Amino acid sequence: MKKIGSWVLLAALALGTAYYLWLWPGGAQTAFASTRSGGRTLVLDAGHGGEDGGAVSPSGAVESGINLTIVLRLDQLLGLYGEAPVLLRSEDVSLHDESADTLREKKVSDLHNRAARIEDTEEAVLISVHQNTYPDSQYHGAQVFFAAGEESRSFAELTQGTLREALDPDNSRQAKPIPDTVYLMNHITCPAILVECGFLSNPQEEELLQSGAYQSRLAAALAASWLQWLDGEGSSPSLDT
Ligand SMILES: [Zn+2]
Repeated sequence: MKKIGSWVLLAALALGTAYYLWLWPGGAQTAFASTRSGGRTLVLDAGHGGEDGGAVSPSGAVESGINLTIVLRLDQLLGLYGEAPVLLRSEDVSLHDESADTLREKKVSDLHNRAARIEDTEEAVLISVHQNTYPDSQYHGAQVFFAAGEESRSFAELTQGTLREALDPDNSRQAKPIPDTVYLMNHITCPAILVECGFLSNPQEEELLQSGAYQSRLAAALAASWLQWLDGEGSSPSLDT
């Protein structure tokens, strides 16, 4: 098992490097600079966790575990580039207060705590990772949403484009504003995107989303999006966030 794990990581690192070099010809000299973040702190939110598994596929795959795997791989990849993201969770837990009792109270407390942690992080930029589901199984493809503010929009549009190029050239989805029903994304003030990596309700995509190779490709595409955004639009923290 250990050997398989390191192969997966190696593949992910190679993919991440390949995407980086492919997206930024000539950028190799700056790839390992440790100060590239320019004061920004990337916060990674693996959606759900603990008793709240999130969406469940028809075959029983649980969203929270897939979200966590992708976030952990993304963290590993970004470490290669001198990035040190803040992870809201790095294991299968809910972040609720001890006083929360019912499942509903735990969920509310968990979201409040996630929002507070993000708000407490200076110059934060958030990537929240989720998996989609829909009653009609034909729908598929990654969908990126953005929180309020121009930086959120630019980061989402760049990420949607990178996911299209890296994973699924036929995915014609465009980045969209986050619906106001999504608590976390509407209760933070920093630039933020939410990535629905794919649909667990689509049998082909469900299989992909559960495969280590595809999870690594997703992580590599997200790492590439972050690094590219940092080099461009995200290079200087704006005053309006
Ligand atoms: Zn979710």
